[in-house]
Amino acid sequence: MKLHEYQSKQIFARYGIPIPRGKVATIADEAKQIAKELGSRVVVKSQVLVGGRGKAGGIRLAKNPEEAGEIASQILAMEIKGLPVRKVLVDEAVNIEIEIYLGITNDRGARRPVMMASSAGGVDIEQVAREMPEKIVKIHIDPLLGLRDYQARDIAAGIDLPREHWRDFAQIARGLWQAYTECDATLAEINPLVITDENRLLAVDGKMLIDDNALFRQPTLAELRDIDEEATSEAEARRYGLSFIKLDGNIGCMVNGAGLAMTTMDIIKLFGGSPANFLDIGGGANAEKVAAALRIILADPNVKAILFNIFGGITRGDEVARGILTALNDVNPSVPMVIRLVGTKAYLDKAESVHR
Ligand code: GDP
Ligand code: MN
Repeated sequence: MKLHEYQSKQIFARYGIPIPRGKVATIADEAKQIAKELGSRVVVKSQVLVGGRGKAGGIRLAKNPEEAGEIASQILAMEIKGLPVRKVLVDEAVNIEIEIYLGITNDRGARRPVMMASSAGGVDIEQVAREMPEKIVKIHIDPLLGLRDYQARDIAAGIDLPREHWRDFAQIARGLWQAYTECDATLAEINPLVITDENRLLAVDGKMLIDDNALFRQPTLAELRDIDEEATSEAEARRYGLSFIKLDGNIGCMVNGAGLAMTTMDIIKLFGGSPANFLDIGGGANAEKVAAALRIILADPNVKAILFNIFGGITRGDEVARGILTALNDVNPSVPMVIRLVGTKAYLDKAESVHR
């Protein structure tokens, strides 16, 4: 689950990371009012769950409340990478001397979280990672020991941070680590962490991804989910208890079991195709669930064909077949469907077929 910038920064602040004063607005007038209260230059920031808002024109400075209102009304009318802007964050603006990148994520290869930092932070960090990877310092964190102070200092030294900032930097790094672990995050990122013209460290942008599998024990975080911002197909899938992830290809897949679903996607790729989704209908899926899954797949205009790969164990072939028929009653697919259905109740037995 992705959190908005303003949500991530509020969490960071609870862990002792300094953030600018600011508030969220949904209409221009509100933004103007917030700017008035802040009593300074402000930055008006679109709150959408994609990166690169700055380059898309979704982050703009305003000199006074009137201008903040005008800019907010323009940004609130924008779409960024296909997502309509519904909220803006109005933050006190600062004068930036240096932009640092600081983030934590899981390094599966190393089987540990990794903290990454760079003195070349800001909007071009992806380019830095590609072209000057030596500009990014990485330190693996032992999950049992946590981030050690010497590690935070090593990072500070590694990015040539002036010594006077080391203490504050170490505190921010510790706060970020705590936020990352206690929130069950898979990413906690500050980009940029800035040094202001008043020589203060400040987290100007924030981003967190929370592990969906941990939300059962993170009820307060689970409530932060922004349903407006989600792909409707994924929200719909969750309602029916389906594991669904939308992808960019054109072959829709309906499979039971995550392992079989992954293998099916691999097979499609092996033969030069490209899957439109990952979909695990789970064990023992009934007709209703299958019908919902089929509607979700068919709602994607990119889908040119559908492959069913059902291996009946707990899942019963006849239930899946009924689900397909149910769905065909209310959606009329114009795409070919290929169905492989083996295992439990893949065929009606003689007695039953005579009956019908
Ligand atoms: P992103 O483009 O989605 O990563 O959004 P950010 O919040 O990181 O903003 C993009 C860029 O806008 C930052 O890297 C800064 O250069 C700039 N920016 C953001 N807030 C301020 C601010 O308060 N003052 C100034 N001068 N620039 C800012
Ligand atoms: Mn940023």
